[in-house]
Amino acid sequence: MNDGFSLTVGRAVLRLTLGDLTEVAADALVNAANSRLAGGGGVDGALHRAGGPAIAEECRRIRAERGGCPPGEAVLTTAGRLKARGLIHTVGPVWRGGQAGEDEVLRRAYQNSLRLAVAHGLRTVAFPSISTGAYGFPVARAARVALRALLDFLASPEGQSLAEVQLVLHTPEDYAVYRSALAELSGQRPLP
Ligand code: ADP
Repeated sequence: MNDGFSLTVGRAVLRLTLGDLTEVAADALVNAANSRLAGGGGVDGALHRAGGPAIAEECRRIRAERGGCPPGEAVLTTAGRLKARGLIHTVGPVWRGGQAGEDEVLRRAYQNSLRLAVAHGLRTVAFPSISTGAYGFPVARAARVALRALLDFLASPEGQSLAEVQLVLHTPEDYAVYRSALAELSGQRPLP
């Protein structure tokens, strides 16, 4: 895990880091889940393995009560043994070529995750790169949507109780893509 790159937005810090989300300490970690909250591969499988069975148990209860979590929405469970107070499960869009509302669903996944954090008094939140693994969303486009959503939320009245939002990128390639997207959106040039 490196210290990454950070930017102050409103009262909060937006940080990009290269690392493993299962090792991050924050009030809330965000899982890139599927609609059935059934657990899967990628970051979802890694968070369930590291956090232990209490997470899947609570996911089962939510599935039984309300059928799961639609794309763009978010639900909160225990974080089990993870270094967090809560685990937010959000469901990104499956990439279908870019004309099926994927950008909007991805934007809402980030926004609704932060809304849920704020509603529960969770002030530091760490996300993975939602939808850019098994769901096939192109990383450069996902980075712009994700960062725009996070920057907008942090600058809005709703976002003022948040202290830090972190995006934890799993590969140096993804980190570089997010780093240049952030430079573009915040009007800064990336450092060499
Ligand atoms: P999705 O189904 O939303 O595409 P994936 O888990 O397949 O979710 O991939 C989302 C992103 O999570 C990918 O960029 C992948 O590299 C990344 N990822 C996988 N494992 C981890 C981890 N332990 N920490 C952070 N990111 C991870």
